[in-house]
Amino acid sequence: MHFISFEHQGNIKLGALLPDGRAAVELSALGFEREFENMVHFIQTVTESELSAAESRWNNDNPQRIPVDEIRLLAPITRPIHDILCVGINYRAHQEESEEFFSLQGKKDEQHIYFSKRASRISGPDEGIPSYPGYDDCMDYEAELAVIIGKSGRDIAPEDAEDYIFGYSVFNDVTARAVQKQHVQWLKGKSLDGYSVMGPAIVHKSLLPFPLELDLSCRVNGELRQSSNTRLLIADIPTIISELSQSMTLEAGDIIATGTPAGVGIRFDPPKFLHSGDEVSCSINLVGTLTNHIL
Ligand code: MG
Repeated sequence: MHFISFEHQGNIKLGALLPDGRAAVELSALGFEREFENMVHFIQTVTESELSAAESRWNNDNPQRIPVDEIRLLAPITRPIHDILCVGINYRAHQEESEEFFSLQGKKDEQHIYFSKRASRISGPDEGIPSYPGYDDCMDYEAELAVIIGKSGRDIAPEDAEDYIFGYSVFNDVTARAVQKQHVQWLKGKSLDGYSVMGPAIVHKSLLPFPLELDLSCRVNGELRQSSNTRLLIADIPTIISELSQSMTLEAGDIIATGTPAGVGIRFDPPKFLHSGDEVSCSINLVGTLTNHIL
């Protein structure tokens, strides 16, 4: 199922989105008899048998649907339990286009770059992304596959990594490019309010074959800027989960942004940064499309 958070008649609810995106079903209509505080609470506590029962009801019972034009989709997780865990420079073509900007000459493939991205709130589909002219005049997009951890663990072996995944979403790692470079470490330039965008749904892992080979792309005002496939990740998902979890606990509900492919705005000459009024749309095959405009 494609799990979502949404607002309906003034209430925040959890549910599932039909694959065609045209209607939502509340969790209560799928037979869940208990309340969940939010998506993280759902991920942390839902059992395999509850998921199976909901799946059966989803497929067989024609649960009550709410047309999507009657709801407002939110990011599936609006308030993360920790900063988002991010992988930097994780597609080779993006590494090549970034070598000069980030002084990466000599970086070895096995040296994976991890950083964190603060987000007190994650923006959702169709939500405006704030801009900060005068502070960030180099606003950039990064389409990424997000992995949502489903089970807490430490020292996870690569072959066990899928067991610790709940599902996947589309993430836009919006970046203040000049601020990112100014402070050497990337946190500040990645963490402006509104610069974490995710959705429309968390697609449960059971719907996708593993390892993932998913096309991902980013368009700005309809122009294709990024186009790649997750099989081209330098550090693949088992490697990321195994490495990050070495002597560091990953918790259910944690979000990992797995890196962006080539074609970010700064690599064009002249650069193609985002400006107020622009529409940015990130897509991942079988996971969804996340479209926002710049305020
Ligand atoms: Mg990124």
